[in-house]
Amino acid sequence: MLIIHQLLVDIIVCRARTDHPMETCGVAAGPAGSGVPTRLIVMDNAAKSENYFQFDPHQQLKVWREMEFNGEEPIVIYHSHTNSSAHISQTDIQYAFEPNVHYLIVSTDHQHRLGPRSFRICNDRSVEEKVKVVSAYRDDAFNRLIDTGISAAVASV
Ligand SMILES: [Zn+2]
Repeated sequence: MLIIHQLLVDIIVCRARTDHPMETCGVAAGPAGSGVPTRLIVMDNAAKSENYFQFDPHQQLKVWREMEFNGEEPIVIYHSHTNSSAHISQTDIQYAFEPNVHYLIVSTDHQHRLGPRSFRICNDRSVEEKVKVVSAYRDDAFNRLIDTGISAAVASV
């Protein structure tokens, strides 16, 4: 199960709507080993596609180094679907590269439910998991991280 803060989901959905009809994408990082996403990093979709997303390799390297420097790791990798539901596609599975990450998908297609839906991907197989959106994490230390990270994320929407 993925437990994720409402503010992060709000920013993901907002950005997905802004980028529509192109797919949006990004990462939610959190303290290494915590499993708790606290900092949203909006990424460029280098593919500029309505059907798939691709991180820009230079940006990805920069963001991954930054996480390492901060003692963080990627907890969630998110993207949007703009003309289908928030299901996981064969392409998504094919390009998934982080076995311990929650792959979160929202849909901006008005004919489908918005989501978010979350999947774990391992060995070319995907399993859907429950998503619990919370207004506060149980541990207040994580809520403080949300507070500090949120202004930077909002600025990039
Ligand atoms: Zn997809």
